[in-house]
Amino acid sequence: MSEEKRTEIGEIGEFGLIDRIAEKFEPKNEKTVKGIGDDTAVYDLGDKYLLTTSDMLLEGVHFDLSYMPLPHLGYKAVAVNVSDIAAMNGIPKQITVNLGLSNRFSVEAVEALYEGIKAACDEYNVDLVGGDTTSSSAGLVISVTAIGEVDRDKVVYRNGAMENDILCVTGDLGGAFVGLQILEREKAEYLANPDMQPKLDKYDYVVGRQLKPKARMDIIHEFKDLGIQPTSMIDVSDGLASEAFHLCKQSGLGVAIYEDKIPIEKQSFETAAEFSIDPNSCALNGGEDYELLFTIGQDDFEKIKNHADIHTIGYMQAQKKGRTFVTRNQNVVELQAQGWKHF
Ligand code: ADP
Ligand code: MG
Repeated sequence: MSEEKRTEIGEIGEFGLIDRIAEKFEPKNEKTVKGIGDDTAVYDLGDKYLLTTSDMLLEGVHFDLSYMPLPHLGYKAVAVNVSDIAAMNGIPKQITVNLGLSNRFSVEAVEALYEGIKAACDEYNVDLVGGDTTSSSAGLVISVTAIGEVDRDKVVYRNGAMENDILCVTGDLGGAFVGLQILEREKAEYLANPDMQPKLDKYDYVVGRQLKPKARMDIIHEFKDLGIQPTSMIDVSDGLASEAFHLCKQSGLGVAIYEDKIPIEKQSFETAAEFSIDPNSCALNGGEDYELLFTIGQDDFEKIKNHADIHTIGYMQAQKKGRTFVTRNQNVVELQAQGWKHF
């Protein structure tokens, strides 16, 4: 072979790679409102916008069947896509499911997977309308595409945040990452001693966060009821820091996040401590919590300030002020994002 330039994907990272792809695909249909770069693509249907998104889960990369029950996996594969529709302030309507199956799988196993897919379809009120099934020589592959809609004047992108907007996050963070550490530890112990029973009771919350994350459609319905229109939004799949960076980059702003405002459940906190990992780092860099991170104008603060499940964690600031993290003892440091690195 000639000496062609070879760039390792790790050098530019997942987001660098996506940027490079996006550069070559400027939308040519005038009704393509949003192409690559947000939680979903957006297509103009008139009064409504159509939203589409895909997420793929690979055995050995995103899940391990030794501790991921198939119904949970089916549920999660749907929920992570619904979460992206939610992040646009949209309502999911349909999904398609693409499967790559190895001959290790029985009909019953596929049915168990679809039990979870069905549970998610019922919970989020979406229809399974198609897909594709092939064989796979590299473990189970499940890729879901979700289609949703939003009124055109209600769509929320990553790029709409304004200086001084309040940064909010739903639920709590870090649990899914801590839950994964527990599952990995129990698996290692089981492999060393197969007679051992996994001890998961004490960790039910964090393990549940990893195995059956919920998409926050409840919050999207509440935004409507409360008359809240977020200025920007993203779902937390990669960790708070990385998602906050996306809002900053696309909105052309900086951010200040307060350590003592980051919501972390007691069990996440205690379990992180058991592993000697900083609970804040789990929230900032862990990922897979599938909560919503969004900004609102100061005028909307009254509407959320007493909400039990929406937490104000900081505010957007001018880009030149940077992305800052204010520690518990009031030190201002630069916010770091590690995020998930699959490459
Ligand atoms: P999310 O975490 O919200 O699912 P991603 O970080 O996976 O978003 O993707 C960011 C953007 O890049 C999305 O608009 C997504 O559709 C797009 N994207 C991801 N992978 C590809 C790809 N291989 N080709 C084209 N677009 C992609
Ligand atoms: Mg997303």
